[in-house]
Amino acid sequence: MATLEELAKEAATCTRCDLYQRATSTVFGEGRPHAPLALVGEQPGDQEDKQGHPFVGPAGHLLDRALRESGIERADAYVTNAVKHFKWEARGKRRIHQRPNGTEIMACHGWLEAELAVVGPRVTVALGAVAGEALFGRGFKVRDHRGRLEEVTVGEWQGPVLSTVHPSSILRARDDEAREEAFAGFVADLVKAREALAA
Ligand code: SF4
Repeated sequence: MATLEELAKEAATCTRCDLYQRATSTVFGEGRPHAPLALVGEQPGDQEDKQGHPFVGPAGHLLDRALRESGIERADAYVTNAVKHFKWEARGKRRIHQRPNGTEIMACHGWLEAELAVVGPRVTVALGAVAGEALFGRGFKVRDHRGRLEEVTVGEWQGPVLSTVHPSSILRARDDEAREEAFAGFVADLVKAREALAA
């Protein structure tokens, strides 16, 4: 079985879908090789694309804070995305995130399968709808799965997946009060993941 380093090197030249054409870098997963917990997001954002690392932008900072509050060390987790290249559209000088479509999620699925097979997490967290679609299949809706640990098979990996929102959705909350409430709910979901690990 390939190592994570070998997989990341191979993914750096991936052309399985068109998203590599407009992205700066392939943002592969990072973290402990045999981490007990895997966190799967949607795709790299503007900052992740520029820096080449997952969850280093505003949503990543919020994720870090939520992990701390839920008693999880990010260093103990493996953090990745369902799709490894940034999909965006230009709006003025800004690059605005666009949701990956089903074809792109499927094209990238092999990388996610390989990561989970190598890492072998005891619990995986799906952060948002795209991660959920990659782990559960098409038609996934966060509201139908949120906060539940459900057994899933993804390639060679089989284990419980806890579904929650993507941290970027909290950043988009309409005001401070809504943001605080959404953040508290996110932390509560992550606490369930931590408790599942401890069980
Ligand atoms: S998004 Fe995934 S499948 Fe598409 S080119 Fe990038 S690494 Fe390959």
